[in-house]
Amino acid sequence: MVDDRVKLLAKFIEPLRVEPGSKVRLAKDFDPGYRASFLKKKEGAGILAAGVTVLEEYQARLAAQDTWGVLVCLQALDAGGKDGTIRHVMSGVNPQGVRVSSFKVPSSEELDHDYLWRYARRLPGRGEIGVFNRSHYEEVLVVRVHPELLDRQKLPPSSRGKGLWARRYREINDWEHYLADNGFKIVKLFLNLSKEEQRIRFLKRVDLPEKNWKFSSADARERKYWDDYQAAFSDMLSHTSTEWAPWYVVPADHKWFARICVSAVLAHTLMEINPQYPKVDADKRKDLAEVKALLEAEAPEGAAADPFASEGGEAQAAKESKQTRKQRAQLRKVRKELSR
Ligand code: AMP
Ligand code: MG
Repeated sequence: MVDDRVKLLAKFIEPLRVEPGSKVRLAKDFDPGYRASFLKKKEGAGILAAGVTVLEEYQARLAAQDTWGVLVCLQALDAGGKDGTIRHVMSGVNPQGVRVSSFKVPSSEELDHDYLWRYARRLPGRGEIGVFNRSHYEEVLVVRVHPELLDRQKLPPSSRGKGLWARRYREINDWEHYLADNGFKIVKLFLNLSKEEQRIRFLKRVDLPEKNWKFSSADARERKYWDDYQAAFSDMLSHTSTEWAPWYVVPADHKWFARICVSAVLAHTLMEINPQYPKVDADKRKDLAEVKALLEAEAPEGAAADPFASEGGEAQAAKESKQTRKQRAQLRKVRKELSR
């Protein structure tokens, strides 16, 4: 039931996927204010909840199977909503299975290495979901818009000059292809914010004391480069959306809508992997049977040898307290609500 909904949603978010090889012009091709007008905010909340439920279940299976890893790359301009998206979408997931890495201005140690080094060190392991809050794509975004950042990277002259950005796109594609071939699914999400919505969110950060910490005047100055960023994003999307690691452009002016899109893309990715709990082989089953016999032999006077095996659901239910029955009924209602 829930799964059907997410499959449906995957269809519905298909227009957000950047067709590999297509040429993207952000302003023309994607609308930051899009929110599938037939969807109401309340319905959206239900879908987000369903997505969170699916994520929770599949993440547990991903971890148990320990074969695939998932890397989620989140990119956006300032105030695009990366932090809030991570908080909401990942809310149901076991923190042990998720690692969020935020990338800031590189340290001098990081600048002493090739540019992908610091990202490689934060890759998820098998069974893990790694979230990059900003990612290796900063290397073709902020670094492209501000060439002085490239100067700090200490590249030898032969590695600079014309064709550098095309080469970086190729290197990034190759790196991701290598990861995909070796069991790591990569999901790339660009939260696409409009200039006007960014202005409003910045003002909120100025006006609300509890948001002040999030604001720096440098962020506002960066708006001067808006068009350069749009061009850099367009070029990045055109060159690095691949069959093995496609980009999704998520309309970000409505936070609630951005979150359901991200949740759906992630849930869809996990459903495609379809991780399974490991099968128990004959040896292991024999092991379990032996342990079972031992534990049963230890049952105290009057207790069932194995309360799970000896009683059916009904017998179990008859023994439940009024409180438990009430709670169970409530939970059923909530579940129904969520999957509606
Ligand atoms: P925030 O995510 O708001 O804490 O800001 C992090 C800052 O680090 C942003 O201004 C980014 O542009 C900057 N940043 C991230 N990656 C790089 C990079 N590879 N080179 C230069 N600046 C970067
Ligand atoms: Mg910032």
